[in-house]
Amino acid sequence: MEKITFLKKLPEEVVIPLVQHKGPTCKCLVSKGDKVLAGQLIGEPTVSSAAPVHASVSGTVSSIEKHPHPFGTKTSAVIITTDEIQQSVEFNPPSSPSKTQIRQIIKESGIVEIYGRPTYNVIEKIDTIILNATYESSLVAGRVGICTYPNEVSKGLKYLMEAAGAKKAYIAVNKNNSEELNLLSGLKLDSNMEIVQLNVEYTPGMENLLVYDVTGFTAQFGGKPEDVGVGICGVNTAYEVYDAVKYGRPSMRVPISVVGAIGGPQSILAPIGMKFKDVIEACGGYKGEPGKLIMNGMTIGLAQYTDEVPVVKQTAGILVQTKSDVLRIDPVECTLCARCVDVCPVELLPTRLAIMADQGKFEEARMMHVMNCVECGKCTVVCPSKIPILQLIRYAKLAIEKAYADLEDKKSPNVEIGEPPVIKFGGESEGGV
Ligand code: SF4
Ligand code: SF4
Repeated sequence: MEKITFLKKLPEEVVIPLVQHKGPTCKCLVSKGDKVLAGQLIGEPTVSSAAPVHASVSGTVSSIEKHPHPFGTKTSAVIITTDEIQQSVEFNPPSSPSKTQIRQIIKESGIVEIYGRPTYNVIEKIDTIILNATYESSLVAGRVGICTYPNEVSKGLKYLMEAAGAKKAYIAVNKNNSEELNLLSGLKLDSNMEIVQLNVEYTPGMENLLVYDVTGFTAQFGGKPEDVGVGICGVNTAYEVYDAVKYGRPSMRVPISVVGAIGGPQSILAPIGMKFKDVIEACGGYKGEPGKLIMNGMTIGLAQYTDEVPVVKQTAGILVQTKSDVLRIDPVECTLCARCVDVCPVELLPTRLAIMADQGKFEEARMMHVMNCVECGKCTVVCPSKIPILQLIRYAKLAIEKAYADLEDKKSPNVEIGEPPVIKFGGESEGGV
């Protein structure tokens, strides 16, 4: 049974960006030379949609400077030289917190979902929670918390429900994850918590689809699960909520799956700000000459230009490829094998969308429901002709978003999840193409 591994030794230095998720940069509360304790607030949010940032280790602030960020930019970061003896701020959580107190604790803890939104915002106006434990194998750390601390995860889910005032919670598990299923079925869950077995791995970006498959509720394109009263949280969120409410600890560490060309692939609990190169070193180091680093998996991940980038709250996986893994293979002509069609979870025709995007036929792509693409990347992975389907689809989506920015509420009959078009391969669609 795969479990999370704990670090034997902290890195000598951590780099904590003042932006940890999609959102604005926090206001820095420390200066060069300051001594900081683990758990100390070092970045204060300037808007309610941002999460606060805490020191993940104790030490001395050696610098505050722009540093490479895994999102591909350079952002302000607090660099802390780690102390040998670790000390944390005194955590004093209330012994029997009220609903309001739990909400406040979740807000102040700075917990962030893997898809980039602070948990506090996600649970603001909902009555149902889905705990997503269906992540793909390269993001396995996002769900192995169930195997490492199952009781804490279920208690954390209970706190989440209380904070949100939710009447129902679903734990979404992939049918093939028999270990998690066995463990969950052995847990004493409350009657308003239900385990749902699904066939799909719902990666970040597929939240609305997950909501539809679990509850039958349809969120409009461009909308969020909360619009239909559902909040999606990760397994690690539930653990962090438990940790924050019970022990007062803020979000300081994230579980990461480190896979690919390294000494010993594993799921590791890393402090926020630990550089990728240190995480890889802790997992046995590079095996051979590294060719490419990808954060958060092959299908939806972000390629990194340096291993100096630090772990942020949205980091769930690091994939290391060798030079030969990433040898550029030029795409060849589509053979109409339809593999991309078979794997598409929202029943699109990726091959035709890619051709339309390539030819600049954006309106036709829109009529073929390109905006319903949840960017799971599965079509690109299976394509034997190595066609960059997702890249082309993203290009079309961006062009359409620009061109249709004034489309009233972005509502049109062709952008509703749950009403897939009737399309014959190579033929006509109901959308009019
Ligand atoms: S990325 Fe490809 S497989 Fe995934 S939803 Fe979009 S078109 Fe379908
Ligand atoms: S998987 Fe690739 S080759 Fe096969 S139909 Fe789709 S785009 Fe064409």
